[in-house]
Amino acid sequence: MSDIRVRFAPSPTGYLHIGGLRTALYNYLFAKKNNGKFVLRIEDTDRTRYVEGAIENLINALEWSGIQHDEGVVTKDSKITQIGEYGPYIQSERLQIYKKYIDELIESGHAYYCFCTKERLDEVREYQKAQGKIPRYDGYCRSIDIDEAKKRIANGEEYTVRLKLPHSRDIEFQDLVRGKVTINTSDMDDQVLLKSDGFPTYHFAVVVDDHLMNITHIVRGEEWLPSTPKHVYLYEAFGWDAPQYVHLPTVLNKDKKKLSKRQGDVSVEDFRKRGYLPEALVNYLALVGWSPESNKEIFSMDELIDEFSFERVSKTGGVFDKDKLNWINGQYIRKSDLDRITRLCIPYLLESGYIDESHVKEQYDWIKTMVSTVQESLSYLSEIPEKVKIYFEDEIHPEDQKAEDILKNEGVQSLFDAFKEELDSIESIDHEFAKTIFKKIQKKTGIKGKNLYMPIRVMLTGQVHGPEMVNIILVLGKDKILNRIKYVEENLL
Ligand code: GLU
Repeated sequence: MSDIRVRFAPSPTGYLHIGGLRTALYNYLFAKKNNGKFVLRIEDTDRTRYVEGAIENLINALEWSGIQHDEGVVTKDSKITQIGEYGPYIQSERLQIYKKYIDELIESGHAYYCFCTKERLDEVREYQKAQGKIPRYDGYCRSIDIDEAKKRIANGEEYTVRLKLPHSRDIEFQDLVRGKVTINTSDMDDQVLLKSDGFPTYHFAVVVDDHLMNITHIVRGEEWLPSTPKHVYLYEAFGWDAPQYVHLPTVLNKDKKKLSKRQGDVSVEDFRKRGYLPEALVNYLALVGWSPESNKEIFSMDELIDEFSFERVSKTGGVFDKDKLNWINGQYIRKSDLDRITRLCIPYLLESGYIDESHVKEQYDWIKTMVSTVQESLSYLSEIPEKVKIYFEDEIHPEDQKAEDILKNEGVQSLFDAFKEELDSIESIDHEFAKTIFKKIQKKTGIKGKNLYMPIRVMLTGQVHGPEMVNIILVLGKDKILNRIKYVEENLL
């Protein structure tokens, strides 16, 4: 058993960003590959951003994606609980722990109480900006004597606790993707560690927790890279060994900007609702920022675990390419069991009004046949109503001039007459009828090939391409086909 321990540490701000899912995925793959443990910790110290139900959403999104954690916050019987020996795993339940470590830092001279009001801090910031400087805390409270500070606190003065960074010192660390990173403390701020509401800041809590939870590798988005030197310095101040760092390239949109809500879907829930299969989304996301050794593009989770390594994670942003995601998702839809796809398509069909609950109960097989006719052509499942509308709209609208012209071919009326005759001779359409009908029409009319199939296809669907005709005929059934022939004869011939 290896000692590798990684964690995904989202803040419960309402939804799981697709970039967050990729971070969770890389943590998971690395843990699984090394027989390590994957921990889910909730970082909820920013009370202003807390959203009701967000923890459940996060856990559901991970579960849906097949990214299973071993330890931390879980749901059981729809209730949040925690498993593991390093808990609590929700930061707001760890305030006493942070208090203890804050006191330790103050005692050792690595942190100090700060009494600056918001007004003063704003003033300093404005002044620095006006001077063309990068706004930074000016160290006003750095030298307040501890006893003096404690008296002020006892008198009820509001305070924060700040990190006391040494002046002009290089802080260095190794990142497994980026190599050596060096930042001088003169480019850093005396970070607030404990806020006036008694909650730690992210920077403080993350270090204390990662240490106490024995985290060996910190795998997170590169937006945290500038914060890492502060964390590294905190480890040093405590006399702890820092973990390994792995900063992942940001997930970008096609214009190379961070993928944001304004450009449409960004949350896992959005993609789920649009009808992406979890294994397809995970497969695609794995490739945004990591590349396998071969050109292979379709990976099961086990194959990803096998092949994943940080050496092949790129330093530059990974572009999120919807077309590629659609292609991969289409591959998975095609490979999936028809029952599964049918079950997943039903909610979209219900919502479109094309079917209702009674169809689901009584005509499941018919729905399944209908879905089978378009399974090959779906990129994502919410496309289903658009794809099957040919079965529901009895007014046929040729999709273009070509389709319209096909109906003007010679002999089209005789094709329809022969079709009607055959339909009149049966009660309802079965597989045998659908399979043999074209042979029969051909025999009756002498028309064959394209001249036989195309006018019938356009008459049935308005389109020149589409699902197999046998299936179209089966799904439509006798009455609908008769209605369509009539409609086309009256309006389009
Ligand atoms: N709570 C941070 C977030 O919301 C976690 C950053 C980290 O992994 O250290 O992304």
